[in-house]
Amino acid sequence: MANNFEMTQEQLDVLLDAMNPVPMIAINVCTGMSRQARANNAWASLGRDMGFDHMTVKPNGKGARFFTAEETCKGIDLGSGNFSGCDASSGDCPSCGR
Ligand SMILES: [Zn+2]
Repeated sequence: MANNFEMTQEQLDVLLDAMNPVPMIAINVCTGMSRQARANNAWASLGRDMGFDHMTVKPNGKGARFFTAEETCKGIDLGSGNFSGCDASSGDCPSCGR
């Protein structure tokens, strides 16, 4: 199920930075990564921080910081902000049932 997310201004800045064209001064330097790859990486890292699957991100029309995405399952809540993790494969996860 898709959930609504709101990123902070700092997180948005990181994303926009990653999506920006490489500055003139860096054009002759091989960065090893395309603009698209850098944007994907930035989204993937944000997804890990916020708990969503970056491949499912869709804008929800509320603004640049707002989007919907499928929440990733963190597994069993072990307390104190720790989770068991979930690989969504053994079918015995009490959180998502996968
Ligand atoms: Zn799960």
